[in-house]
Amino acid sequence: MRRVGKNSFTEIYFAGCNPSFVETSDGYVMIDSPQQPIDAVRWRERMEDRAPIRYLINTEPHGDHISGNAYFPNVTVVGQVKLQECFERYLYAFGTLEEKRERFKETDPDSVWLVGHPDYPASNPPKLTFDDTLTLNVGNHTFNIIHMPGHTAPQTSVHVPEEGVVFTGDNVFYKCRSWLQECDPWEWLTALKSIEALDVETIIPGHGDPCTKAYLKEQGQIVENWVGYIERFVDRGLSPEEILKEPLEVTKQDPYPIGQRLFIHDERLTSMIVHNLHQRIRDKKQQSSA
Ligand SMILES: [Zn+2]
Repeated sequence: MRRVGKNSFTEIYFAGCNPSFVETSDGYVMIDSPQQPIDAVRWRERMEDRAPIRYLINTEPHGDHISGNAYFPNVTVVGQVKLQECFERYLYAFGTLEEKRERFKETDPDSVWLVGHPDYPASNPPKLTFDDTLTLNVGNHTFNIIHMPGHTAPQTSVHVPEEGVVFTGDNVFYKCRSWLQECDPWEWLTALKSIEALDVETIIPGHGDPCTKAYLKEQGQIVENWVGYIERFVDRGLSPEEILKEPLEVTKQDPYPIGQRLFIHDERLTSMIVHNLHQRIRDKKQQSSA
């Protein structure tokens, strides 16, 4: 557990994203939930022993940010309106409960008994939604919840001015491989500018160590590198499959290793990035020539 502000904490060593919380004078506000069921229930019991959990804000729909929600069954989940719409689809893209249970027998035996446990719902989607922004006042803290599409369409940042922090989800990957598998790269670059404009000392990324705004330039460069690289293949008329047969210079676009327990997806990720950017670049070219 890492302290990132006077009353703010994040956990960067779990399998999955960096789940975080702020301790207010009126209970806890969480940002994303621990991915592994055993981590989630341990968190909840330790927190509720001290104070109630008021809200759980999701920054994006990827399974490593939302699948732990179910273990906070009495907590109001907050999310961008598109996140509410796609919540179940993303949750089950991560596998059915039966598939998860089987997988955990290999990867996380302590979590097996909690999958499908009668005390917990199968899912806990957002009940409180917003389009562009939502401000929550909890105790003496302000939570400015801001839609910043990029890494995903519902992508959301949580800015807590009293703490000088912003929780960005996966619009920032600090020194671990960036996942551009479904992003709109141009919106992502705009989101990085919006993060830059916030009055904060510390950025809590979706993955990797907390960092400062100094890293945003490098994050933007990685997005730009990928777009430029795939665009050159598109200009040569190559299909995604043909691009993937080329000797791809992945680490020239993004020098960082893949994050927490995600190594099994390293090659699959390259393929997903190529497919996504190929489509988006072609769509954009078609639009501008129409
Ligand atoms: Zn993500």
